[in-house]
Amino acid sequence: MSNHPIPSYLQADNLGPWGVFLQQVDRVTPYLGELAYWAESLKRPKRILIVDVPIKLDDGSVTHFEGYRVQHNTSRGPGKGGVRFHQDVTLAEVMALAGWMTVKNAAIGVPFGGAKGGVRVDPRRLSLAELERVTRRYTSEIGFIIGPDKDIPAPDVNTNERIMGWMMDTYSVNQGRTSTGVVTGKPISLGGSLGRRDATGRGVFVIGRAAAAKRNVPIDGARVAIQGFGNVGGAAAECFVEAGAKVIAVQDVSGTIYNPRGLDVQQLLSLQKAGAPLTHCTGADVIADDDFWGIETDFLIPAALEQQITEANAGRIRTRIILEGANGPTTTEADDILNANGILVVPDVLANAGGVTVSYFEWVQDFSSYFWTEDEINRRLDRIMEEAFASIWDTGLREKVTLRTATFIVACKRVLEARHLRGLYP
Ligand code: NAD
Repeated sequence: MSNHPIPSYLQADNLGPWGVFLQQVDRVTPYLGELAYWAESLKRPKRILIVDVPIKLDDGSVTHFEGYRVQHNTSRGPGKGGVRFHQDVTLAEVMALAGWMTVKNAAIGVPFGGAKGGVRVDPRRLSLAELERVTRRYTSEIGFIIGPDKDIPAPDVNTNERIMGWMMDTYSVNQGRTSTGVVTGKPISLGGSLGRRDATGRGVFVIGRAAAAKRNVPIDGARVAIQGFGNVGGAAAECFVEAGAKVIAVQDVSGTIYNPRGLDVQQLLSLQKAGAPLTHCTGADVIADDDFWGIETDFLIPAALEQQITEANAGRIRTRIILEGANGPTTTEADDILNANGILVVPDVLANAGGVTVSYFEWVQDFSSYFWTEDEINRRLDRIMEEAFASIWDTGLREKVTLRTATFIVACKRVLEARHLRGLYP
């Protein structure tokens, strides 16, 4: 009999984000009642595919990259989750990201399981043609486990609409038919959805507004700090500024900028679009990266990578509400420190669910080949996010748990109920 908690392909003493996910599952298990019978299945990804991605570089040489696609759970529907291109991507990281997708999709009630993909590559070191070859070869290698009713990739860190277009084309060419619904986050002209690009950032704002109402924090005049100014951080900044808040600090790979009177977000968005370092902006001080965490704010939005808020900096954070735009930005130890300090932490699996919500709309629109207006999309997005927040907030009060555990309670019950009703084959 074998029931090892850690699979042989991971290092038990170096689980990274997957270790955080396992701790979160352990924390929710006592609240699952009879469904706890199935809880172990959350700790075992359903399917993992590791692929070699060989490409010819522009200089004629051949190089190899490591690629992954993890389908964590498909009890409630096909796999759904982004693809990350990053030099430090690991299997344990992609497993955790896939697990969080399972929880997120169930928490907001979209009919998907959880999946995630990644290629261990630094896209900044590739030419556009090389990037296209990496994307196409990776898509082709994972092609037999993805599909509109199997597993639907989307953008994540360092992947965007253009890359989704190449993925859709590669899959379609291999299938011999145009299959727009195989990925979401596509360009509008290839079956993409209006509102998708800003959906995650918009969702962060909508959830932030709902959380602020519970804590009596006015948005007008609120001070916001954001780590990561990409797809998520940039769109969230715009929404907060539109609502009267000021973004006083931003950190990205190029450094950290600060202005207590508010940064010029439009200028930052232009720099981001041009691929220029944010530290080139005018009207702001460049400060030490580590000082970012000590700035006094009303909202702190980590929107970069995992494990940014740790035991080392959590105690210094002076904010009222943390909105996790990134996936897995907070370690379990840091989470406990923040909660003990009275900071409301709105977890990733709720706060950044706006992206997958509009991805769900995109997938539905592609199936019916009937496209909605942006207003309709935003209205539906806001409603789904607000309703999810309200029911998770009530669960938190009822069970006397953090919002993270409350989100896991709502989501894991849905996943495991589906697991239970489907039964175990054979
Ligand atoms: P992106 O590639 O568009 O932007 C990433 C940003 O993070 C960039 O500004 C980059 O400079 C910054 N960054 C990277 N490493 C950093 C570091 N070490 N310190 C400070 N800043 C750093 O990526 P994105 O799509 O905005 O994703 C950001 C996060 O949001 C990820 O955790 C992702 O999984 C999560 N997320 C994205 C979506 C989506 O729809 N794109 C949806 C849900 C969650």
